[in-house]
Amino acid sequence: MKTKDIMARLQAKYPGESEYLQAVQEVLESIEEVYNQHPEFEKAKIVERMVEPDRIFTFRVTWVDDKGEVQTNTGYRIQFNSAIGPYKGGLRFHRAVTPSMLKFLGFEQTFKNALTTLPMGGAKGGSDFDPKGKTDEEIMRFCQAFMLELWQCIGPDQDIPAGDVGVGGREIGYLYGMYKKLAREYNTGVLTGKGATWGGSILRPEATGFGALYFTQNLLHHAGKDIKGCKVAVSGFGNVAWGACIKALELGAKVVAISGPDGVCEIPDGITREMIDYMLVMRASNRDRVEDMATRFPGQAVFTPGKKAWSVKCDIALPCAFQNELAEEDAKQLKENGCWCCCEVSNMGCQPGAIHFFQHNGILFAPGKAVNAGGVATSGLEMTQNAEHISWSGKEVDEKLHFIMKSIHEQCVKFGTQPDGTVDYVKGANIAGFMKVAQAMLDQGTI
Ligand code: GLU
Repeated sequence: MKTKDIMARLQAKYPGESEYLQAVQEVLESIEEVYNQHPEFEKAKIVERMVEPDRIFTFRVTWVDDKGEVQTNTGYRIQFNSAIGPYKGGLRFHRAVTPSMLKFLGFEQTFKNALTTLPMGGAKGGSDFDPKGKTDEEIMRFCQAFMLELWQCIGPDQDIPAGDVGVGGREIGYLYGMYKKLAREYNTGVLTGKGATWGGSILRPEATGFGALYFTQNLLHHAGKDIKGCKVAVSGFGNVAWGACIKALELGAKVVAISGPDGVCEIPDGITREMIDYMLVMRASNRDRVEDMATRFPGQAVFTPGKKAWSVKCDIALPCAFQNELAEEDAKQLKENGCWCCCEVSNMGCQPGAIHFFQHNGILFAPGKAVNAGGVATSGLEMTQNAEHISWSGKEVDEKLHFIMKSIHEQCVKFGTQPDGTVDYVKGANIAGFMKVAQAMLDQGTI
């Protein structure tokens, strides 16, 4: 297998699908050497099969807004790979959603889910619906219309969607309500991220952020460092950033920045629990503005329009917002300001130039598919609880999450340790995920 040849073929076949091509390129580069040591993979054309989704559902979603006007969006579900388990992955509601974006996310999800140690295949879905400025009623009507099409594609042993950007507990509630009505079954295992009183797992809302910080702790420990007293810059203010801030604070770090599409809020004395709680209010408002934090906490949070979290002096950078949110110039600025570690929490949050810069300038870097896997892993734990009709305590879920993040870190070290003793976490995560999926595909024959 030659990455160059496969990429040339995919570029010709899917011109303009930049996020998808970027995600595939990153994985293929990492696995090329190992892959070529396995002639059985080449014979079964594992890579050629793995880069293509199993199937893509595309559907029209029509709903009525508060003014009585008819609105039409496009909905998608991409079932990427089911070699190691049923399709599993979130739904993203964002105006910029395209098949390319969801293909990149579904592809990444396949490897991420393999790393979790749980039996889950990869999928992703969503819509170009823009939640910004929508009322609660509009969100509900959209979710109901979306599920009217989606419900026949999913099932607890078939495909299990969850949240992602623009889809949180509220949206999962509306989606589940409509699913239940259509299916006439109380199939809790069909969606994850549900409310704790109706089948949701305790800690699922916090899990992506908590897991990211547990992974960061493992990484720092391996490098002989400690998170206590470190200054942390976080991008975004949604569910993932929220969980990351809670755990960073608990572990004795100081969160000095959060950000939004409108700019950055610098918090020189560190974020407080009250401010973290306010992030939930900001998210529920659908205003998509981080400036609201500075308005609510004048003197504590200082808003600068148009700037990113990476302009704030920190030790550790945690991208928690969107793909490609950290560019090479940002990586350079972070280094100039003394940053020495970046754990990518968002999916593909760093541009290839930024990753390259980190890796060649002695900055510890770990990729999203390892760092943020605690979210989907806890979704996997939710599926188990649903299947057994039981619910675990927060302590039980947290212990399992700790164990999973530790084992993901160990897999990265196993497959990513370089001759000089440093760990290439990108390589480690990609090879570990790939080997598991590839072996399962081989076992199951040419299908
Ligand atoms: N959207 C999350 C992710 O990127 C969670 C998916 C899930 O829980 O299924 O992994």
